[in-house]
Amino acid sequence: MTAHIIDGKAFAANVRERVKGHVTRMVEEHGLRPGLAVVLVGEDPASQVYVRNKGKQTAECGMASFEHKLPADTDEATLLALVNQLNEDATVHGILVQLPLPKHLNSDLVINTIAPEKDVDGFHVVNVGRLGAGLKSMVPCTPLGSLMMLKDYHGDLSGKNAVIIGRSNIVGKPMAQLLLGANATPTIAHSRTANLEDVVRAADIVVAAVGRPEMVTGDWIKPGATVIDVGINRVPAPEKGEGKHKIVGDVHFESAVKVAGAITPVPGGVGPMTIACLLANTVTAASRAAGLPEPSDLTV
Ligand code: NAD
Repeated sequence: MTAHIIDGKAFAANVRERVKGHVTRMVEEHGLRPGLAVVLVGEDPASQVYVRNKGKQTAECGMASFEHKLPADTDEATLLALVNQLNEDATVHGILVQLPLPKHLNSDLVINTIAPEKDVDGFHVVNVGRLGAGLKSMVPCTPLGSLMMLKDYHGDLSGKNAVIIGRSNIVGKPMAQLLLGANATPTIAHSRTANLEDVVRAADIVVAAVGRPEMVTGDWIKPGATVIDVGINRVPAPEKGEGKHKIVGDVHFESAVKVAGAITPVPGGVGPMTIACLLANTVTAASRAAGLPEPSDLTV
């Protein structure tokens, strides 16, 4: 038996098509073009790639894309002034400050300066609190994309035991909140969890968000379980040539695919869904700002 492969790339393309449809209607019927502003401080190569992809996909969906690139030595006051300016700008519906920020900048302060209704990453404490309280919020993109795929595959998640490995604010914790909201029974495991393998073996749904290449092997997986691999790890790939690298997940795909019922690959699983959900969140934010009904097919 091999697992069903959940094709995040195709799913993300489908979400982007839906986004595009909503944007077209918003422009034609309401003269409203959703806009996303991305702020990048410094020259981190991975962040530059992310920001370029975000800008490209934003424009491809017909939205306005605003890119603000600041030098690595930008001081806090300058960055906060830019965030405040974007908060006031009616053509900007979503603001994303690319993390990590250079060490001299206080990420928490910067993120919490973004107007919560424009916080399309869902990292502002107001959105964290609202999600926890089961209120309308902006939902962090990676967990949102993961839950969309889970719901699409399973339908109802009621009664499912879900184990999330990793307790970060950007993936693990919001993922647990979303699963709880979907009537699953989530457990958050982490670096201090005792008998981690046994905890994972009890799960109908495993979400791996650890940042450790191929840590979760097939023998940790309950036969038939659904595995969402959030990990993105760059590892040496000598088989591709000297000095070459490849991207692997937190799950050892070759062994897990033989046991799981369904699994997301890396690359091509959760990764593409993250940007697609950022675009979806921007449309949601623009709809809310204009008092229009929120597209129900862009959330969970
Ligand atoms: P993080 O470093 O903030 O958190 C990692 C978590 O894993 C921590 O809570 C820690 O307790 C736990 N952990 C560490 N070692 C462990 C161990 N041995 N056993 C059990 N738990 C352990 O990481 P993050 O930001 O949540 O990201 C996790 C992974 O997901 C990374 O590989 C990251 O690149 C990837 N990621 C992918 C996307 C995407 O778009 N697909 C988005 C965000 C993060």
